[in-house]
Amino acid sequence: MQIPLVDLKAQYASIQAEIDAAVAAVISDTAFVGGRYVAAFEQAFAGFCEAPHAVGCGNGTDALELALEALGVGPGHEVILPSHTFFASAEAVLRVGATPVFADVEEGGFLIDTEAIPALVSERTRAIMPVHLYGHLCDMDPILEIARDHDLAVVEDSAQAHGARYRGRPAGTMGDVGCFSFYPGKNLGAYGDAGAIVTGDAELAARLSRLRNHGRSGKYEHHEVGVNSRLDGLQASILAAKLVHLHDWNRRRRAAAARYDRLLEGVEGARALTGRPETESVYHLYVVRVPHRDEVLELLRADGIGAGIHYPVPCHLQPAILKTGSRLSLPRTEALAAEILSLPLYPEITPEQIDRVTGSLDRALERTRSR
Ligand SMILES: *Cc1c(COP(=O)(O)O)cnc(C)c1O
Repeated sequence: MQIPLVDLKAQYASIQAEIDAAVAAVISDTAFVGGRYVAAFEQAFAGFCEAPHAVGCGNGTDALELALEALGVGPGHEVILPSHTFFASAEAVLRVGATPVFADVEEGGFLIDTEAIPALVSERTRAIMPVHLYGHLCDMDPILEIARDHDLAVVEDSAQAHGARYRGRPAGTMGDVGCFSFYPGKNLGAYGDAGAIVTGDAELAARLSRLRNHGRSGKYEHHEVGVNSRLDGLQASILAAKLVHLHDWNRRRRAAAARYDRLLEGVEGARALTGRPETESVYHLYVVRVPHRDEVLELLRADGIGAGIHYPVPCHLQPAILKTGSRLSLPRTEALAAEILSLPLYPEITPEQIDRVTGSLDRALERTRSR
C-alpha cells in the first residue's frame, strides 16, 4: 500500500459533485477572469479570515510581491524574514528590488527567532515578513512590538496557515497584510495557481486591486504600472466550493497530527515539530526531526511512504542568493534543514495509514541506529 505525502484525488472524490457544478457554472456564464465568482470568493475568504478585505491574485508569490509593493517596499530597502521557508518568500522581496535579511530559527524550533530581529533592523529596514510555516503561527506579539517601535510594516506569509490562530487572532490579520497561496497542495488548494491578500486597510486593498490588474482604475485608465496577476473565475468558483469544508479539513488535520504525536512518543529518535501552546495550528505539514535523515527518507520511500523535505536548502544557501555575494551562516537553520522530514498528512488520511507510516519510520530509525 502506497501512502502519498498529499492525496488530492481522495479530496476530489469526497466533493466531486460540488466541484463539477462549480466548474460548469463558470463555463456556462463564461465568467473566466474577474467577475462575480471572483468577487464572491474574495468576500467569502475575507469572512473566513475575519479580515475586512480580501483581494484575489494569481498565486501566493504574487500576493507577497504585490503586498510589498503596495506598502512602498522597493529598491534600497530591507525586509527581515526567516531563511527557513519556501524560496518564494525571499524571491518576492528580491522581485520588488529590496534586499532580504535572513533571521535564524528559534532555539529548538523552526519559526523565525523573534529575539534575533532587533539586531537585524537597520535604517533601510521597511518590513518584517514572518512565515507561518507548516501551519504553525509565529510568535506575533514580539514581532508586532518591534514593528511598532521601528515603524516597520508586517507582511504575514500565511501560505501554509489558512485558518490557524495565535491567541485567538486568525493568520494574516495581525500584520498590515496577510498573503495566502492556493497552490493545489495547500490547506485550501485551487485546481491550478491562485492566491489572495487580506488586509484591514481599505485604501491598501483598493491599491492592491489596481496593481494586480494592470494598475487599472477604470476600464481604460492606468494611473500606475501594475501587473497581470488576476484570479480567474474557475479557480475562484472551485475555491469557494472548497472553502465551506476548510474548517472541517483543518480539524481533521489536527486530529491526524494528534495521532502522530501520540504514536511518535514511542518512536526512539523522532522528534515532532509542534506549534506554541498559545496557537491553534492547521498542520499544513507534519514534520519531524530525525538523525540520518537522508537514509531514513530513502527507507521510507522504498517502503511506499511518500515522505518529503520542506525544505532541504535554506534560502541563504540557495545559489540565487549566494550569487549576490551574501555569505551568511545560520547554524540553527542549517542543522534543522539536515534533519527535517515531512510525513504524509491530509484531511482524508486514515488512522491505519498513520499507524503504517509510524511503524515504517520506527523500523527505518532502528536500521539507521545500528549502523
Ligand atoms: C506556497 C508558498 C508560497 C508561494 O505560493 P505560490 O502560490 O506557489 O506562488 C510562499 N510562501 C510559502 C511559505 C509557501 O508555502
